[in-house]
Amino acid sequence: MSDPVSPQLAHLIDGYRRFRRTGWTPRVERWRELGEGQNPRVMVIACSDSRVDPAQIFDTDPGEMFVVRNVAAMVPPFETAPGHHGVSAALEFAVQVLKVDEIIVLGHGMCGGCQAALTQRLHGAEPGQGGFIADWIALLDEARGPVIAAHGTHGPAAERAMELAGVRTSLANLRTFPCIATKEARGTLRLTGAFFAISDGVLHLLDQQTGEFNPVA
Ligand SMILES: [Zn+2]
Repeated sequence: MSDPVSPQLAHLIDGYRRFRRTGWTPRVERWRELGEGQNPRVMVIACSDSRVDPAQIFDTDPGEMFVVRNVAAMVPPFETAPGHHGVSAALEFAVQVLKVDEIIVLGHGMCGGCQAALTQRLHGAEPGQGGFIADWIALLDEARGPVIAAHGTHGPAAERAMELAGVRTSLANLRTFPCIATKEARGTLRLTGAFFAISDGVLHLLDQQTGEFNPVA
C-alpha cells in the first residue's frame, strides 16, 4: 500500500504531469545536455515568498539561473565564525566554480521578513517560535534606522523603504566577500539590485549611482 496523497501533493503531481507533457518531453535534447552539467551565467538571490519566483519573473529555463531563496532575500556579511553558512556556500559555488557573470539581489513587495525587521515584533522570540527569523532579519537592523526615522515602523511607505533598503544591504554584504569584491573590481562580475511586486507586476532595477529603483520599460 502506498502512502496516501494529500490534496496539496495531488495538485503538484498534476502540475508535474503537465510539465512532463508540455515542457519536458518536447525538449528532451536540451534536458539531456543539461544532464551533462550546468553553466548558468547568473545567480539570483530572492525571497522564499511564494509570490516572487525568479524563474517565472524572468521567464527562464532550467540551467539559466543559479538561485538562492531565503527569508527577505538576505546575504549575510562575510563571516568565518563557526556555523552553517548556507548562503555563503552557494555564493562560493556560483562565483568560484560556476563563475557566474552577474549576481542579482531581487527584493519584493509585501515582504513579511522585511516587515518583521521593521516592527521587530519577533524580537526576543525563542528558536522555533520566531527566534530564527528574528536572528536572521537582524541583518537588517542597521538599515532599519534611517527607514524608521523617515517613515516610522508601520504602513506601506515604511514597508517599501525597508524592502528597498534590504536589497541595498544584501548588495553591500556581497561586497564584503573578498572573491566578489575582487571580481567586481576587475570587471568580471556585476552586482545588480532589483525589486518586483506581484501586485503591479513591474520589475525595478537599482541605479547604483543615484540609489533609486527605476521601473524597467
Ligand atoms: Zn519576502
